[in-house]
Amino acid sequence: MTYVEVAVVAPLAKTLTYLLPDRFGVAPDAGLRFLVPLGRRKITGYCLGEGQPLDAGKVKEVADVLSADPLFPPSLIPFFRWISDYYHHPLGQVVAEGLPGGLTMKSGRRARLTEAGKKALAEDAALQPLRELAWVEELLAVGSLSPAAVRLLLQGEDARIIRRLERGALLFFEQELAGRGIRPKMETVVRSAVGEATRQAGLTLKKSEQKTLESIAALTKGQTAAWLPKRLLTTAYGGAGRALPALLDKGLVEQKERRLMRDPFGLEPPFYPRPEKLTDEQQQALDVLLPAVRKKNFDAFLLHGITGSGKTEVYLRAAEEAIASGRSVLVLVPEIALATQLEGHFYSRFGDLTALLHSGLSAGERFDQWQRIADGSAMVVIGARSAIFAPLADPGLIVVDEEHDGAYKQEEGLRYQARDLALLRGRMQKSTVILGSATPAVTSFMHARQGKFRLLTMNRRVEDRRLPAVAVVDMKQVERKDGEKPLFSPQLLEALHQNLERNEQSLLFLNRRGFASLLICRDCGHPVQCRNCQVSLTLHKGAQQLVCHHCGYRIKAAAICEHCKGGDLVMIGFGTERIEEELRSLLPAARIARLDRDSISKRRDFYTILNRVRQHEVDIVVGTQMIAKGHHFPAVTLVGVVWADAGLGMPDYKAGERTFQLLCQVMGRAGRGEKSGRVIVQTFQPDHYSIQCARTHDYSSFLEQELALRQALSYPPFSRLVNFFFDGNDEKAVQAAAAATGATLRSLGRQHQELAVLGPAPLFKLGGRFRWQCLLRSASVEKLHRCCLAVRAASPPEVRSGKVRLIIDVDPEGML
Ligand code: ADP
Ligand code: ZN
Repeated sequence: MTYVEVAVVAPLAKTLTYLLPDRFGVAPDAGLRFLVPLGRRKITGYCLGEGQPLDAGKVKEVADVLSADPLFPPSLIPFFRWISDYYHHPLGQVVAEGLPGGLTMKSGRRARLTEAGKKALAEDAALQPLRELAWVEELLAVGSLSPAAVRLLLQGEDARIIRRLERGALLFFEQELAGRGIRPKMETVVRSAVGEATRQAGLTLKKSEQKTLESIAALTKGQTAAWLPKRLLTTAYGGAGRALPALLDKGLVEQKERRLMRDPFGLEPPFYPRPEKLTDEQQQALDVLLPAVRKKNFDAFLLHGITGSGKTEVYLRAAEEAIASGRSVLVLVPEIALATQLEGHFYSRFGDLTALLHSGLSAGERFDQWQRIADGSAMVVIGARSAIFAPLADPGLIVVDEEHDGAYKQEEGLRYQARDLALLRGRMQKSTVILGSATPAVTSFMHARQGKFRLLTMNRRVEDRRLPAVAVVDMKQVERKDGEKPLFSPQLLEALHQNLERNEQSLLFLNRRGFASLLICRDCGHPVQCRNCQVSLTLHKGAQQLVCHHCGYRIKAAAICEHCKGGDLVMIGFGTERIEEELRSLLPAARIARLDRDSISKRRDFYTILNRVRQHEVDIVVGTQMIAKGHHFPAVTLVGVVWADAGLGMPDYKAGERTFQLLCQVMGRAGRGEKSGRVIVQTFQPDHYSIQCARTHDYSSFLEQELALRQALSYPPFSRLVNFFFDGNDEKAVQAAAAATGATLRSLGRQHQELAVLGPAPLFKLGGRFRWQCLLRSASVEKLHRCCLAVRAASPPEVRSGKVRLIIDVDPEGML
């Protein structure tokens, strides 16, 4: 019996100690998954290693070992502990968050006989008595025992025997993870048998059998030991399917089942060759980065490179260096949309060493990728934010591409910021960390100034392609037509016409989906609202539905006003769907594609549309921020921003930063090929500094103005925020809990200076739940942390009873 420290998957602040009985036959290794008793239930827990001995009478035993092989390397435990502490989230739930979903009881160890084991069990006289045991007979017949059988054996009387076989190298254990209902995909492979040619001499073969053998030889190019997928053989020679059984019978061909890795790339990604010459700026950046990678110490860099300056190649060269020094590479990208281009580059460079982890994968694909990373066969991991938990034992390089992107913040469950965690993980695992962006987060740039990161700058585009010329159109000046403002200014429309005539591609950007943003009743003036949320429903004309973009609630578009039962509803506002429809009537000859969350449901659709754009089967692409990021469309020469200030009305201190970043990114899509590009920005606020600075591609001027504003209002990076967020079905209870916490915080604020409490204030209702929040601001992380602990210790009765949910959001991404 050993004591083990276990982080249970339950809202408990502390880890627990259990006894691990010897009968399971496992050492108290970190990363094992247990089933442990807690109260009257049994729940999942993760082993963190040996525990402190406790008063033996009180300690309960581990009920079962669910995964007898570590699911994560021990090097990640300090990482998990830090996260649990900083984000005020239970450790077991932090670990669970980091693992891919769908791991179940089936995970475990398969026992496999070695060649020596097969021989010994079959022939060795001393071992013959063992063959009376059914499982030994089975082991001999099949060659392996399932994880379930192994688990039972290790708990039973024969545990000693199987251990002895293992020690004698007669069998070995092999990690086998299995997801819920996920079986690894298998494929049948064949090859010609050893000595096939000599044996064949004494046999007469049918013509089809002869041809099958010839096809195998041709397809394996004479490499006789190589296995060939049966699928390829039967495609090459249709008669092989019928001839194979006879050939197997005659011992001329061997056949087996082999595990097939699911290909996460779906379609074959384009191949990107390694450029022979680096640009001067790439070389300068790498002159600093490569020695840092070689040093194998923590070192952080902010790579500020304008769009098209070739940041990807810098990541690739640094990755080559890390791999050359025997260490692995982790690359974070904001979301699926962006991943395509970057993953293509990495896949072209590193081939099968690459693994992908992001939400676009099915549970099965995710799981395969996880396993390849865990067993070390994938050295380069590309993934969205949760990939920060990837089980790489020794990452030498961690890249966060488009580090300013809001998608790095998880907004539910464990509310972490993957960019911050990348720096933390790098510090703990002695990695080089590169944060890359054309428009770094204001906070990141401030860190670079303060010397926390080293700043690397790339100001020129590859091959000196020019940044596009930008024209800003003041929509206030555009004349109304039929009493309405047109969606397109004459300037934009003219440019679209021209581009169509010249057979050049255009891209139109609007960060709103749907057809109309809301419907208002002409009789009583009430908007059509969601039943669960205090927000207007968006009209989706194609689907003939009114949809809530928060909770997904939808009703038929032929709605009547709920308030006065009137049927005269008028559309206000517009989204990408409306843009597409308007374009089709204004430019009937144009081939138009729309890219937003409604038009693509799967990653594959996304690839398909991108490929059509690349093949120039599309003249105009209309899209949301999905098209803004990361893509390289060489033939796009015009970018139109339909409504640049759409996001500026948000009551959020980051609205200006987000607008600037998004605009720079969309503009960066123009003129990436030989022809130079131009940009037309339509806006109602042409003088806003976010729009002005984006127009002149002037990051530093934007930064100065933004920093001045933030400093005046004491917002980050001049302070840090914690949001205490309450929600529940009972409006009074939610309000009471928020008020009580607000009072706790205010009294703490009176004791400590530099602590500001904003609120509590109600938010609009979402998903049928009433919501309140209370924001805490301070320049001292330490003080904020202590306040969180105080609130947790003195949580109001409504929270303790579970009636109201309290979420502590440390470093919230915005204020809503
Ligand atoms: P960024 O990410 O900085 O916006 P990219 O990495 O997408 O820029 O690079 C822009 C384009 O330039 C890509 O098509 C890339 O393949 C190409 N490129 C990058 N480095 C070089 C180089 N040294 N020589 C030639 N082409 C390059
Ligand atoms: Zn809703």
